[in-house]
Amino acid sequence: MSFIRCVRSRVQVTAVRCQLFTCVSYVMDKREKAVNKHEEAVDKREEAVEKQTENDPDNVPADSSSGQEEDDSAVEKVCKYLAQKLRLYDSTDESEQTSQKVLTELSLDGIAEYIKSTRCKNVIVMAGAGISTSAGIPDFRSPSSGLYHNLDKYNLPHPQAIFEIDYFEKNPEPFFTLAKELMPGGFKPTPSHYFIRLLWEKGLLLRHYTQNIDTLERVAGLPSELLVEAHGSFHSGHCLKCRAPYSLEWMKEKILGGLIPKCEECKKGIVKPDIVFFGEMLPDRFHTLIDQDFKKADLLIIMGSSLVVHPFASLIDRVPSNCPRLLINKEKVGVEDRVMQLLGLKQGLVFDPIYGHLARDVAWLGDCDTGCQLLADKLGWEEELKTLVKKEHERLDAEK
Ligand SMILES: [Zn+2]
Repeated sequence: MSFIRCVRSRVQVTAVRCQLFTCVSYVMDKREKAVNKHEEAVDKREEAVEKQTENDPDNVPADSSSGQEEDDSAVEKVCKYLAQKLRLYDSTDESEQTSQKVLTELSLDGIAEYIKSTRCKNVIVMAGAGISTSAGIPDFRSPSSGLYHNLDKYNLPHPQAIFEIDYFEKNPEPFFTLAKELMPGGFKPTPSHYFIRLLWEKGLLLRHYTQNIDTLERVAGLPSELLVEAHGSFHSGHCLKCRAPYSLEWMKEKILGGLIPKCEECKKGIVKPDIVFFGEMLPDRFHTLIDQDFKKADLLIIMGSSLVVHPFASLIDRVPSNCPRLLINKEKVGVEDRVMQLLGLKQGLVFDPIYGHLARDVAWLGDCDTGCQLLADKLGWEEELKTLVKKEHERLDAEK
């Protein structure tokens, strides 16, 4: 008897799930159609306005899309209701979703105007390899960078194995061969690095999160307390056996000399730079500070990252839902999936907002240095940035 009851209740649950699924699919389909219809209506209206203004520039036709809007809003309500029922939608964000727009326009000018206003006080920067390429640092994770041809003799199972902790513990030699070419010291920070330093000098930088292990943020003079090296860096190292700490200078001497650094304390362990390998945890500092910082941000600038490595990439969704996000990158990345957008889920950047999504994300496409210089120009920091780069590069050259 209880078996039958159990089966019956399972059948009922499954039936309810099926209904919900069908319902969601229906609403999503309807919503998608509504979006298309809305886009068509906008196109038609634009055409009509063009025609009308050609004939009679003073007489622009009235908005005929109010019926469409009612239709849209009904679909919107059902969709939100369902998403909430399915716990797909965070209702606490509703007031923020509908809050006033923060940027006067979705462009670099809009961002510059916002930075200059008193409303923007806490800027978080997230950066990837793109801010260091003009320094001459190859994208070492990419086998096409040419760094890997030196490693043929090691017969790596796959190129990534070089950054896998299990492989490293058995065979550290390939990593140190590569590290010799990547060792910090010969590279100078780029204008992008100095732009971040200017944000700090102006009292605007809350924190800089970097995926880079090249230490160029430190070389550019950014204080270490404002820096989160999410994937670690060559700045320090530890013995894998006894955890004894070692400095960059100590490791550098061994690595450049072609030696595998061995611990002087326990005489057994290998000293590994504190860069995060695949299969290793991210630094504690990363987890502690993301909880503190991202909710306080009132501008997020993402530079030169392909936003594919997690958990770093998912940080973009941790800022408040009305916080503007500027992407400076060669191409659009981290873009929200259309299905997610239709369901009202916040997962990624939205450059073409639909349905109640707050228009707050700006993409500037090109190389990071050009983007940073352009933003500096619009902020009135044009000469300051150029002078800082020149002065600091001269200083670094003199130190060599
Ligand atoms: Zn040791």
